[in-house]
Amino acid sequence: MNSNILIAGAGAFGLSAALALTERGHRVALVDPTGPASHSQAASRDISKIVRSEYWSDPAYTELAEAAIDCWHEWNERFGLLYHETGITLLAPAWQPDSYEAQSLATARKFGKQVQQLDADDIARRFPMVKKGSLTVGYHNPRGGYAEALEALRTLCRELMDRGVDFHVARMVERPAVRGGRCFGFRLSDGGLLEADHMLVCGGAWTGTLIPGMETNVRPTGQPLFHLQVANPVAYTPPDFPVMMLDIANTGTYVLPQHPTQQVVKVGLHTSGRDLDPVRDDRIVTDTETRILRRMFSKYMPELAAAPIIDSRICLYCDTPDCDFWIDRHPDIANLTVACGGSGHGFKFMPVLGDIIADVVEGKPNRYHGKFRWREPAPEQSPHSERVDLADLTRD
Ligand SMILES: Cc1cc2nc3c(=O)[nH]c(=O)nc-3n(C[C@H](O)[C@H](O)[C@H](O)COP(=O)(O)OP(=O)(O)OC[C@H]3O[C@@H](n4cnc5c(N)ncnc54)[C@H](O)[C@@H]3O)c2cc1C
Repeated sequence: MNSNILIAGAGAFGLSAALALTERGHRVALVDPTGPASHSQAASRDISKIVRSEYWSDPAYTELAEAAIDCWHEWNERFGLLYHETGITLLAPAWQPDSYEAQSLATARKFGKQVQQLDADDIARRFPMVKKGSLTVGYHNPRGGYAEALEALRTLCRELMDRGVDFHVARMVERPAVRGGRCFGFRLSDGGLLEADHMLVCGGAWTGTLIPGMETNVRPTGQPLFHLQVANPVAYTPPDFPVMMLDIANTGTYVLPQHPTQQVVKVGLHTSGRDLDPVRDDRIVTDTETRILRRMFSKYMPELAAAPIIDSRICLYCDTPDCDFWIDRHPDIANLTVACGGSGHGFKFMPVLGDIIADVVEGKPNRYHGKFRWREPAPEQSPHSERVDLADLTRD
């Protein structure tokens, strides 16, 4: 039966859900303080996001990422170029049996992927910008690359508007409106009330401020990203230069190719991050974080260590305790679903997340529901959640 569905948050999760729900015939409205293409501080809003199926030994994410890559290709057909299949290269100083590189390579092979294992000579020949002898092993997966994040958000907003989706822009959800254990709408910070049959909160790092009890399930962590101006952009341009991860489980360092329109090389640190309040705290990169990045590059990619920083900012991960997404109906409030917990890796799944969220809203079974259900923080972590501790990098 078609319902009226209200969604708080127009980032990757909210827009993806709106697309799937309208495709199933529901009437959908979105509420977001800054509206289409979203809040400048939204995690989804950036020039580019990595799309990879490298998930340690986790078959579920590898499978879901493979499905997402197929959909990015379909979206390229349907909407124009939103995804660049540059391939992705993982490098490390040496093979370690349980390392991210070794486990992801084994999983890629299990999935029958045509990956190319690389040794020191291959790396020196293909990536002359990598400091000789610093990273001597790894592999290249031709499947994977990066998405035009901001363009993808804008494209989905246009598509949703064409489908008659209402965007309540410049309005902010204060809390769910609940009576007798049933949610009947959203109370807004301007005193307004929007009512519907089912409410969906996709508030990213802000979710803990919106849903009672969620503040213990999600933790906003600040992660720095930088846009660099390189002296020799051709060398950082596909097909010769793919998305690269430089011993990422130990350094947190990733590099995206020269962006075709922004003319910058985006780099970042994927670590435990800093606890930040999404509403009150500034989003400023510290000198320490910049020093860490420079030090990593002086070790592995000296040209980038010297490259001017054109722009930098702190963006917030919405971390769950196990870094698995949080997509489920509220256990105590009916007609209310929460979808968040991107944990630094959610954007790539935008083409496939919507159906997972829509199944939960409709109360239908979904093969990923078990992994993303409302849960008590489990003692054991998901295999892919290991991120280097920022404090360790600071101490070095
Ligand atoms: C530095 C960084 C790098 C990343 N790199 C990658 C990558 O390479 N690949 C990848 O797959 N993922 C990456 N991610 C993760 C990815 O960006 C996120 O998982 C994903 O974008 C989360 O989408 P979201 O919709 O949950 O949150 P957001 O995009 O943050 O959207 C939340 C929305 O909620 C709205 N909102 C907030 N409060 C309210 C309110 N009160 N009422 C109404 N609306 C509200 C906000 O305005 C915002 O638009 C990265 C994240 C960061 C921070």
